[in-house]
Amino acid sequence: MSTNTATKILGLHHVTAMSGDPQTNIDFYAGILGLRMVKVTVNFDDPHTYHLYYGDGLGRPGTLMTFFPWPGARKGNVGIGQVGVTAFSIPKGSMDFWVNRLSEAGVPFFGPEERFGDQVLSFVDPDEMPLELVESSEGDPRDAQPWNGLGADVAIRGFHSVELWLGKMEGMEALLQEIMGLSLVGVDQGRSRLAANGNLPGNRVDLVHRPGTPFGTTGVGTVHHMAWRVESVVEQEALRQTLERAGLRVTEIVERNYFQSIYFRTPGGVLFEVATDGPGFDIDEPLATMGTTLQLPEQYEAMRGELQRTLPDLVLPDGTVVTK
Ligand code: ZN
Repeated sequence: MSTNTATKILGLHHVTAMSGDPQTNIDFYAGILGLRMVKVTVNFDDPHTYHLYYGDGLGRPGTLMTFFPWPGARKGNVGIGQVGVTAFSIPKGSMDFWVNRLSEAGVPFFGPEERFGDQVLSFVDPDEMPLELVESSEGDPRDAQPWNGLGADVAIRGFHSVELWLGKMEGMEALLQEIMGLSLVGVDQGRSRLAANGNLPGNRVDLVHRPGTPFGTTGVGTVHHMAWRVESVVEQEALRQTLERAGLRVTEIVERNYFQSIYFRTPGGVLFEVATDGPGFDIDEPLATMGTTLQLPEQYEAMRGELQRTLPDLVLPDGTVVTK
């Protein structure tokens, strides 16, 4: 299969992980990292738990970190077959700001160290999920949409990359390059970097060969899946058929209200989703107030009264209590 197929992967869309306490999660991702809460909804497969979406001020694909908070649930172990590290992109010249900000917040970190010529700061979130902030030497061309009091000169621009931990590389390299159309753009310290749609922050995945590492287990503090962007269901359906012809089992197109999705398990064990750019997060509430009111899909609207009682109250960094 060549890269001249209809597949047009535009970059990373979102990363979805499992967390513990939702308020602790908000205080970290919105409060310390300064991301915007762009949607408060429920897990469409289990409406008794929240699904929290963070992103930039516009909630654009490529900036979206999402969580299923399950307070008291079993802790997972990050390992082979998972997204091992999720990396956010910070603007050129902002590393000192972030070192100070994490220090003042009492978040231990490692680095910054150099990788592919970029500066990388490593730390974990309150559920011990590995994260990085990456200051690219060439900068990040995405315009700033800052939130939660951060300035445009320091605000996270979105994802830089995700790092996949693999027991073997072969199947994943073939999938990403030959079927999904990514290109190998670099090899550094045992990692292969591939990029979709130009070698830019937000379009990259690093494959890391870790044969001695145990397999990951699903649970709090681990990434559940990662999603790639396509423009529309036309590209999505074409890719779905290409994947199936290559012998992968792919779901039908699933309606996620804010985008449409397909899912498949990769040869490396990582669960991939491919999601459309639209319709976006302002489909059920105004852009200006997104993330301040619990949004339910139609099938769960009748449960709102019950969910108001059972779902915990959430407070955003500016003191706004999320309306249920
Ligand atoms: Zn997803």
